[in-house]
Amino acid sequence: MFDFLIIGGGLIGLLTAKELQKTGANIAVIEKNSPGKQATWAAGGILSPMRPWYYSEPVNAISSISQSIYQQLSIELRDETGIDPEWLPSGMLVLHDNEMTQAIEWCEQHHSPIKVLTTEELKTQFNHLTPQKKSAIYRPDVATIRPHKLLAALNQFLANNGVTFYNDQEAQKLNINNQAITSVQLEETTLNAGEYIVCSGAWSPNLLPELAEKPNITPVKGQMICFPPTAIANKSMVMDGNRYIIPRKDGRMVVGSTREQTGFDASTTQSAFKALKEFAQQLYPALSHVEPDAHWAGLRPASPDSIPYICRVEPYKNLSLNAGHYRNGIVTAPASAELMVDLLLNKNTKIDPKPYEIKR
Ligand SMILES: Cc1cc2nc3c(=O)[nH]c(=O)nc-3n(C[C@H](O)[C@H](O)[C@H](O)COP(=O)(O)OP(=O)(O)OC[C@H]3O[C@@H](n4cnc5c(N)ncnc54)[C@H](O)[C@@H]3O)c2cc1C
Repeated sequence: MFDFLIIGGGLIGLLTAKELQKTGANIAVIEKNSPGKQATWAAGGILSPMRPWYYSEPVNAISSISQSIYQQLSIELRDETGIDPEWLPSGMLVLHDNEMTQAIEWCEQHHSPIKVLTTEELKTQFNHLTPQKKSAIYRPDVATIRPHKLLAALNQFLANNGVTFYNDQEAQKLNINNQAITSVQLEETTLNAGEYIVCSGAWSPNLLPELAEKPNITPVKGQMICFPPTAIANKSMVMDGNRYIIPRKDGRMVVGSTREQTGFDASTTQSAFKALKEFAQQLYPALSHVEPDAHWAGLRPASPDSIPYICRVEPYKNLSLNAGHYRNGIVTAPASAELMVDLLLNKNTKIDPKPYEIKR
């Protein structure tokens, strides 16, 4: 019997396991594929909501705590496993933002550095960019991480520290007795634990028992492409509308993303490939003769207000949920895991847990 059973081995499940592992508890993670092959694997790894001034305080509160954790987390994982999650303080350039006043006010209120760059400054400081007709916002303190490396490092860290993995095993249902979960049904066996935590991303509502309060989580597909390493020197991230380009340490450039309501279909399309490629080549003329060498898609676990569900699931005594992080599940993951574990251990929480409950 385990102390804690986590269902879902994406970033949210793995960081929840890491936080629990600090208590010396006996933990298992059940993952229907291999860990981290879904939304987390597909993500860009931007460590900020794209435009935090458009988001509610509960989203910004957990983002801000996570941002203060990420660099140290990345160093810890690199030192313990030899796998570098590539935390990179790349800065973020925001083009064509209509709410510049709102953005400046938000950054000032939240002590987040911001500069407004004129078209001349853009030309000299970002000389690989197509000349711009409007001034732009630059946020020097925004960082990125490389999700698949973060996942690889976390998996190794957790395995080294005694967490048990049930990979390629789907949790089919939760068995119940008297408003308590008694076990998780896998194809060939059942597993028991004191506490059960659903971290199954977009699939989370499917697993909750009939009487449970239901979170409003739906899949929203995002497609990305990647250019091979080039000599483009400026390593800042660039955002324009809903699209962005993220530089990697090895010179690759990741371009995202689409937002599509296609249910659980995570296939890629030629039209998205073409649109993302044209966007990148228009912004960086040096890419116009370079062909992207990768194209993928993932399903974001969307909640209607972008606020994740991090809470106990009524009426069950030992069931919790950490899911629904939508577009911000990488940046909000460390603080989401902390909040979840504080609730599980009945400890004081750093932030008010109310906004993250199912009933809100
Ligand atoms: C294209 C794209 C770009 C993104 N970019 C960013 C970004 O730059 N920054 C950012 O902060 N966020 C970004 N996101 C959002 C972020 O990726 C997600 O919010 C986050 O990864 C959600 O993590 P998760 O662990 O909840 O979900 P997932 O990573 O999807 O993990 C859930 C896991 O549960 C498993 N599972 C489901 N059901 C079961 C079951 N019954 N039994 C066992 N296992 C099960 C799944 O196989 C999966 O591995 C992006 C998302 C996409 C798609």
